[in-house]
Amino acid sequence: MFEKLRMPKKITLGIDVGGTGIKMGLVERSGKLRRSLRFSTPSKSDPKEVAELIGVQARMLLKSKGFGTLLGVGVGAAGDVQRQTGIIRLSPNLRWKNVPLKKLLARHIDAPIVVENDANAAAWGAYIVESKRAVKNLACVTIGTGIGGGLIIDGKLYRGATGTAGEIGHATLYPEGHTCPCGNRGCLERYIGVRALSENARQAIASGASSLITSLVKGDLTKIEPLHIQKAARQGDLLARRLWRQAGESLGVGLASLVNVFNPEWIVLSGGLSRAGRLLLDPLKKTIRERSFPVPSRAVRLVISRLDQDLGIVGAGLLAFESQ
Ligand SMILES: [Zn+2]
Repeated sequence: MFEKLRMPKKITLGIDVGGTGIKMGLVERSGKLRRSLRFSTPSKSDPKEVAELIGVQARMLLKSKGFGTLLGVGVGAAGDVQRQTGIIRLSPNLRWKNVPLKKLLARHIDAPIVVENDANAAAWGAYIVESKRAVKNLACVTIGTGIGGGLIIDGKLYRGATGTAGEIGHATLYPEGHTCPCGNRGCLERYIGVRALSENARQAIASGASSLITSLVKGDLTKIEPLHIQKAARQGDLLARRLWRQAGESLGVGLASLVNVFNPEWIVLSGGLSRAGRLLLDPLKKTIRERSFPVPSRAVRLVISRLDQDLGIVGAGLLAFESQ
């Protein structure tokens, strides 16, 4: 009997750089996440400090034995990314303008590095891991602090002319609405997302609405999070139910346009609010049905990502395999 020859596995390092937190993990070619960690983005998000911190954490992660050889590093960053140079042209969340992230990271990590928009990376992760390349046209929408969007068209990541294709979070919901850091007014992400939903609950309660949410946060309205609104809604709380219905309907207005414009087979939802399940999905589906063409709206399947918070890391890691 011969012993089975064991080849060292090839892995990549996937990094998801956001305004509040940075996540990273070791990713296999199949999309399997081997080990991950997360830490807070430094308060002033100074680019050099961020790159150094990523370098330290990456070395720690890579020290662990038995994970194979590092093939490359994939970074998904929140903002307008110039992929060829790895420069973050603009990131309102990180408060960055023209930051050479790839160059800064290369001082700390000795491997080929690719930098991509975080929502694009998540869409690639959704395509490979969630759909297993079975559907060729897919949109991925991450509903966290803001709303990110990425598109897979004919089995390829669609970046558009300059790399920001799929930014559904900045589709206009109200032409005269709140100003958005992107420069527009009334963007979808100013009305839905973790921050907007919690703020809507706070305002409604502060102006007199009675709700179970108040007792769930022991009267401290600054503590309200989507999870409290979810709990209250499941117990039949009227305000909480209305907030989820409004969130689903507003998101539905945006996604109905996405369905009409791109006719996707799947829309994969991930991020904080996607965990509300039917509370969000029911009004969302109803609105998409009411507002988009009948055939594409019946054809599109709404899928909640199983990878959820890890989708960005996995997608970024998988993009590093692609660039080899
Ligand atoms: Zn905007």
